[in-house]
Amino acid sequence: MKKGEKVRSPITVVMGHVDTGKTTLLDKIRGTAVQAREVGGMTQHIGASFIPIDSIFEIIRPLSDFGIVSVDKSKFFIPGLLFIDTPGHEAFTNLRARGSSIADIAILVIDIRSGFQPQTYESIELLRSAKTPFVVAANKIDRLPGWDSHPDTPFIISYQKQNPIARKNLDGALDDLISIFYDLGFPADRYDRVSDFRKTVAIVPTSAVTGEGIADLFLVLTGLAQRFMADRLKLTLGDAKGSILEVRKITGAGTTIDVILYDGILRRGDYIVLGGRKGVIVTKVRGLLIPKPLDEIRDPRDRFNSVNEIVAAAGVRIVASGLEDALAGSPLYGVPGDIDEEEIREMIKKKEELVLEDIGKLIFRTDKTGIVLKADTLGSLEALLRRFKEKNIPVSVADVGDLDKEDVIHASIVKERDPKWAVVVLFNVGILPEAKELLEKEKIRVLSDNVIYKIFEKLDEYLYEYEEQVRRKALEKLTYPGKIQILPGYVFRRSKPAIVGVRVLAGKIKPGYTLIREDGKEVGVIKQIQSEGETVQEASYGMEVAVSIDKAVVGRNIREDMILYVDIPENDARLINRQFLKYLTPDAKDAFLEFLKIKRKIKGFVWGM
Ligand code: GDP
Ligand code: MG
Repeated sequence: MKKGEKVRSPITVVMGHVDTGKTTLLDKIRGTAVQAREVGGMTQHIGASFIPIDSIFEIIRPLSDFGIVSVDKSKFFIPGLLFIDTPGHEAFTNLRARGSSIADIAILVIDIRSGFQPQTYESIELLRSAKTPFVVAANKIDRLPGWDSHPDTPFIISYQKQNPIARKNLDGALDDLISIFYDLGFPADRYDRVSDFRKTVAIVPTSAVTGEGIADLFLVLTGLAQRFMADRLKLTLGDAKGSILEVRKITGAGTTIDVILYDGILRRGDYIVLGGRKGVIVTKVRGLLIPKPLDEIRDPRDRFNSVNEIVAAAGVRIVASGLEDALAGSPLYGVPGDIDEEEIREMIKKKEELVLEDIGKLIFRTDKTGIVLKADTLGSLEALLRRFKEKNIPVSVADVGDLDKEDVIHASIVKERDPKWAVVVLFNVGILPEAKELLEKEKIRVLSDNVIYKIFEKLDEYLYEYEEQVRRKALEKLTYPGKIQILPGYVFRRSKPAIVGVRVLAGKIKPGYTLIREDGKEVGVIKQIQSEGETVQEASYGMEVAVSIDKAVVGRNIREDMILYVDIPENDARLINRQFLKYLTPDAKDAFLEFLKIKRKIKGFVWGM
């Protein structure tokens, strides 16, 4: 980092399954930071809390007090950490998705006793696809059997003070986590055993209640930010860039937007350019609100301070007209309001293009064959699209909002072209009544959930089912393998056509199938099959039936006890061999392999398998 270069604070998200302790952890951090008031404490933002670097030094001080690390304050260039407050409930995936895509760094909280849970996997998916570096807080260590708590002590010290049983419990739980991380493709280890934090996920055992491990957690977190993010964190002065967390109607202020500003400076009187449901919105900033410090709140209705400017990274509520259609998850760009008018116009135009480009990647309607995707916000749409792309799943329509009739019409057009992709995927949105009717009429498959990873599970399941069905149908069109034996004493007619009793030893026989002998010689074609006096369309494994075979002559080309095989045309045999072997019953598969052997033995026979 060069001297004089401005660096913004890394945006930090806390992710993880509900009840793992995310809120408690943030509260603990905030509380510790507030106690460190004399060195700056903590400031509350909209949707975020800022912990200045001096408070962070206070939080990690126990580690240097115990002589475990020496912190050289002069080496730190980040101003602090901006924590985004992410709710942990399932329904807030959209917010987590948005949070994770603008986050520079993350804490993944796992309850050390419960291990991996659904949103743990989902959080990892989000972090992986956004390539966000993260540290794991293996939380609630104070609840491990035998654990003796040492409040606000670094983990390393507290661990040394534990009895062997408590240590063993902790080690075992960590090993379990490490092996699951490994299976997911992430090498992971207890933080003090990690040598390269870029390659290995660091796990810090913590207790958000007793404060054990919090110092260690912050050491790793700031270390990650300091070491690997210098370039990403360079602050561009001037026009602001941000992301809309939430769109809110506020009595008295109209519709406002809560924005995480991740670069630049935004001032009252600046223009903002952002995505709306009906196109790009350009408006002028009327007010910038940030929460008042706690001790300044006298009237609960008056919780905000209006400021003239805000510097990234920050969380701010923007008051402006024309925000009714603003899209949560949309990017936001600022244009200074105090420059030459001509210049303003040009800059706004450029930003409009940027917004259109950003949103165009997320909201689109194409003629391509692919699924129809509707999500509640741009943030969740982004997370979903990213995963679909990774999985090579084509998307023809992506949009925000409830499923409407037009979407279903689109899906039915797709159905005509390729039924495989006539699927509607809904994330956290509803279905409008007229769309519902049409869905039923057109028999379009709907996959809906408000948990991202469950959407993918459902889609995988659907695709698997679909492929299976396609294969089964294709197999039905092919000649099925079969093997029969002529039963002694059941020759009903010797020729023209010969009628004999047979037992199906494997697979199936059907009228029209040609039969061959074990030496490969053709016997004739099955004309009819009768079972207990009734004509049947097929006979399968284990059945004893009477068959009439044209061209067969008992005593000449067939005789009692003889084994015959269904002659499978070369093309069918090749398809079965390549694609359908696993769909054959075991007996049919054996018969098929025997049949191949017979064919291969025939001299000069070209069997292009
Ligand atoms: P969130 O849903 O992830 O935000 O979880 P919360 O922070 O709301 O915590 C859920 C419950 O676990 C609360 O009752 C917390 O008091 C408790 N909890 C959180 N962290 C810890 C911890 O480290 N130790 C213990 N014993 N309880 C914890
Ligand atoms: Mg919570």
